[in-house]
Amino acid sequence: MTTLQERLNNVIENIPDFPIAGVQFKDITPIFLQPKLYEAVIDDLAKFSKGKIDVVCGIESRGYLFGIAIAIALDVPFILIRKKGKLPPPFISQSYELEYGTSEIEMKAGQLQPGQRVLVHDDLLATGGTTEAAAMLVEKQGATVSQFSFLIGLKDLKGKEKLQRFNATIHQILEY
Ligand code: AMP
Repeated sequence: MTTLQERLNNVIENIPDFPIAGVQFKDITPIFLQPKLYEAVIDDLAKFSKGKIDVVCGIESRGYLFGIAIAIALDVPFILIRKKGKLPPPFISQSYELEYGTSEIEMKAGQLQPGQRVLVHDDLLATGGTTEAAAMLVEKQGATVSQFSFLIGLKDLKGKEKLQRFNATIHQILEY
């Protein structure tokens, strides 16, 4: 029996120096060529969150590819966390630091309810800057970040450390 980790390792492609020099880009698109593998990924992520969350918040754009399917599997709502300028008002914003400059993410106001337990999901955890800002958006609305999940975590970039202060459980299917 091959494990889910082995099956993913066989298809995820590592592209050196993309989109800029020094970045090892993880291309997850081959997962979608194998419906059974995609299904196994959703099963794993849904199992981690079953009974522990009220809402899934997915981060644009690859966080939508899996986040919506997790929400359907668990019969809970899905809320989009979008890049700046894409959502019509009313919305709330959170800025965060990039290597050079700052960026902002946004969420529709009123969709997340105070007290709800939230899974913040993205495909990949790198420095953790985007996910940290997403968790701050959740807390700004009085909801609780209960869990984070990712297909991939990049250990050297220490994203997990940045997320420690939210006291949420963190799941990564693969860690490189
Ligand atoms: P960060 O805020 O540094 O944790 O970056 C996370 C976001 O950037 C995720 O939405 C990823 O999809 C994307 N990302 C960052 N590094 C990589 C990488 N090496 N390969 C693929 N996607 C990446």
